[in-house]
Amino acid sequence: MAQEKQTAWDLYHSYENFKEQSLTNRRFKHSNIVPLIERLKNKENFKVDKVGKSVEGRDIYSISIGSGKIKVFLWSQMHGDESTATAALFDMFNFFSADNTFAEFKKYILSHLSIYIIPMVNPDGAEQFQRRNIVEIDLNRDVLRQQTPEAKILKEVFDSLKADFGFNLHDQGRDYSAGNSINPASISFLAPSPDHEKSLTPPREKAMKLIGNLVTMLNEFIPGHIAKYSDDYEPRAFGDNFTKWGTGVVLLESGGWRGDREKQFLRKINYITVLSALNSIAGGSYLNTALDIYESIPQNEKFMMDLILRNLKVIRDKDEYIVDIGINYDEINLNGAKDFYLKAEIEDVGDLSVFAGYEELDLSGFTIEPGKTKPEPYHSLDELEKINPVQLYSEGFTNVILKNENFQGVYSNFPFNILFDRNALLDCQIKPEEMPNFIIRKNNDVKYAVVNGHLIDIEKVDIWNGNSIVFGE
Ligand SMILES: [Zn+2]
Repeated sequence: MAQEKQTAWDLYHSYENFKEQSLTNRRFKHSNIVPLIERLKNKENFKVDKVGKSVEGRDIYSISIGSGKIKVFLWSQMHGDESTATAALFDMFNFFSADNTFAEFKKYILSHLSIYIIPMVNPDGAEQFQRRNIVEIDLNRDVLRQQTPEAKILKEVFDSLKADFGFNLHDQGRDYSAGNSINPASISFLAPSPDHEKSLTPPREKAMKLIGNLVTMLNEFIPGHIAKYSDDYEPRAFGDNFTKWGTGVVLLESGGWRGDREKQFLRKINYITVLSALNSIAGGSYLNTALDIYESIPQNEKFMMDLILRNLKVIRDKDEYIVDIGINYDEINLNGAKDFYLKAEIEDVGDLSVFAGYEELDLSGFTIEPGKTKPEPYHSLDELEKINPVQLYSEGFTNVILKNENFQGVYSNFPFNILFDRNALLDCQIKPEEMPNFIIRKNNDVKYAVVNGHLIDIEKVDIWNGNSIVFGE
């Protein structure tokens, strides 16, 4: 294991040399990866095949490398908005196609393994940055019924390979924590069950040992951020059936990481995880790993929120109550799902001591009140630009009315929500599912505003980089 850990560190430190620089965030499309795949056709050792087309006619590719006896099959992004591993696979292609580096290691892997990869199983979903395919079927519930071309392709390639190992590469929600810790479940693993009894069949046991090996390695990099996905049997899912049909399947889910909404650090962690897995399979080191390691991985729990404001005083009819306020951000797609803005919602109010925030602030001694809409409208953007935000916050306002037909857009970087009509948004409430717009004071002096769930320190309004919401008619 010491040698494998060292290799993982070498991969970690040299990562930037291989990172595919054209993929910079999670919302890349099929058209971004096709040229990268075409380029591989000219590379020694790589074999590129078109294995079929999506509903909308996008080519789905299989890329293979290596000539060893052990077959490993990896597929990513069967859910269109789960792209972290896809990016990491392209980093890995760069690693295997680069000259004069890690030569011994690569030779070792490629002589022991035959590796088959389908990156982006669901390109139409990726185009919309949505989970399901374009006819709204969840591919991971279509292994039996085989209604979608994408699921058919995945099943056909699986049947043709009868691989020893399968890697089912996904992303999971940011709200998962590693057990009841304050850490996000940044990487969650599962050796899927082959039946409702969760039988420990030889392929499943093999996958569990390999996962144990990977957890030991990952504890070097992201200790406390590793969890186990629910092992409830899902008869319609690929991983569960592939396990039943004899392949050792590893489900890998990329979750959240503080300060990394675009998951570029977790992409790097995916890269070293997959390469470490190949290393372990090639040498068989996982066979010596105790099952206890897998058993002791904490479960995925849902204890994470995007922002928690703690210990705020709410005053109602002169009575005071201390509350925590938990806020989550929804990503709303923009520009053909190439971009997004955030829309916030109050997740919960009260004692949130069992939850953890990606960001948190203790506001003991501060009073919170719902933000109001300033009744007098503005008539131009110029007029808005001249607003003194702190003055408006101190008067209790987080929303302004703009009577200007020319203004377009659904969000803004202005530190107030913008309404075209007084009735578009009533004054806000401190209540679950409502939009979090607040004024926070200490001894009557305004110290913070919260606009669309983004905390604004009034000393730093100028450098605020959140987004407010624009409400139409
Ligand atoms: Zn998924």
